[in-house]
Amino acid sequence: MEVELTNPIYRIIGQEADRMGVRAFAVGGVVRDYFLKRHCTDIDVVCVGSGIELAKASAAAISPHKEVAVFKSFGTASFHYHHDGQDWQIEFVGARKESYRADSRKPIVENGTIEDDQNRRDFTINAMAVSINEDTFGQLVDPFGGISDLHNGILRTPLDPDITFSDDPLRMMRAIRFASQLNFEIEAKTFEAISRNVDRIHIVSRERITTELNKIVLSPRPSVGFKLLMKTRLLQAIFPEMARLKGVDTREGRSHKDNFYHTLDVVDHVAEQSDDLWLRWAAVLHDIGKPATKRFDSKQGWTFHGHEVKGAKMVKKIFTNLRLPLDGKMKYVEKLVQLHLRPIILAEDEVTDSAVRRLLFDAGDDIDDLMTLCEADITSKNEIKVKRYLDNFKLVRQKLVELEEKDRIRNFQPPVSGEDIMTTFGIKPCREIGIIKDAIKDAILDGKIPNDRESAWTMMMEIAESLGLTPVK
Ligand code: ATP
Ligand code: MG
Repeated sequence: MEVELTNPIYRIIGQEADRMGVRAFAVGGVVRDYFLKRHCTDIDVVCVGSGIELAKASAAAISPHKEVAVFKSFGTASFHYHHDGQDWQIEFVGARKESYRADSRKPIVENGTIEDDQNRRDFTINAMAVSINEDTFGQLVDPFGGISDLHNGILRTPLDPDITFSDDPLRMMRAIRFASQLNFEIEAKTFEAISRNVDRIHIVSRERITTELNKIVLSPRPSVGFKLLMKTRLLQAIFPEMARLKGVDTREGRSHKDNFYHTLDVVDHVAEQSDDLWLRWAAVLHDIGKPATKRFDSKQGWTFHGHEVKGAKMVKKIFTNLRLPLDGKMKYVEKLVQLHLRPIILAEDEVTDSAVRRLLFDAGDDIDDLMTLCEADITSKNEIKVKRYLDNFKLVRQKLVELEEKDRIRNFQPPVSGEDIMTTFGIKPCREIGIIKDAIKDAILDGKIPNDRESAWTMMMEIAESLGLTPVK
């Protein structure tokens, strides 16, 4: 089969390879993505010889002073190439043969043939190569039937999957990540080998595991990946808090819903609306506090009181364990988890201005994301109920816009500051300042006074008087 390589870089590298008398190939992801018609600007080139020398020669052929990044200890080199208005990253490596020890994912590497190099790759669809030497330019080298697996949507290891996964257990995460990104099936033997090798995942660094987990979260339907993580029991090994969401308890003939599958529905719904990684993480974690707060009593049945508070408290530890950033992103996820019931409680009741203002005050700029999460959280099978919620949500959204225009609550700054109060009454920091500020804030949020300085000032004077404070002259 012929592959149409349009980027002129392939001819340039091919010519240099011919001059050096070595065989060279485009390999791996770039070949796979070519057939999938996926956008890809990372090109991996393998040559049967020195990858570093081929990189240097190719760069020199483009321009005499072109910069090449050389990683001597890895035997790799790379440069950037501009074509078609895009920045392409070209990576060079010599064909290699790998062997592994039990305690590390770092292989012992020797020079090898192109077959050796294809053997060490993780899946048949990632093991295809395309020749770029002049005489065979564009010819596909596909020893494991990668093309047919690609057509049938199948992930399968080139060699014995038990060896492939035991050698480098990160490949188990990659299998599930590709299944989720591409909506592919993992072939039965490959799947069983993942289940058998789950314990090996612990030799992989958490950063690398989380890189793959994030790709699952960002895939078109994250539930595909999470279900596979659960089925293989990898989820229990890398993210036990989420695994604990699964299961249904029944007492006195009453059952609660399975919070794992419910969470996956919510994550998929959010994924339809947003590509934001952190909003998607908020969806993953929104009910994470449910197992810890689950109670049963004959009157109310199953309850999860306070699960949003408990859940928000769990975020930091989960982010720490997964090596996710402990910065504003984490705060944002905590906030969304903490507030995820608020719009729905509001929509259950009468939608009052005061409640909407308070929601806007607490959510600030994240209000739209919170509304997206909350709408996604409505997964009831009862269509009438769903319609009523969604109608009330429309009303909430409408009021949010109206009140925001009128009252500017989103980034609320107190119209009278603590400093104002202290200088007006000649006092040092004390309890009274908090009382006055809270009263003013509540009055604004309840719509009793408008959000402006004059009204707030009048109110400050009134409350101060009732507290026995007098202004200094
Ligand atoms: P993406 O770029 O979408 O993350 P990719 O498959 O291109 O996916 P890269 O990390 O760019 O992933 O790797 C390029 C190629 O290197 C792969 O297609 C595969 O052939 C090989 N490869 C990468 N990681 C592994 C691994 N852990 N085990 C075996 N082969 C691997
Ligand atoms: Mg790649």
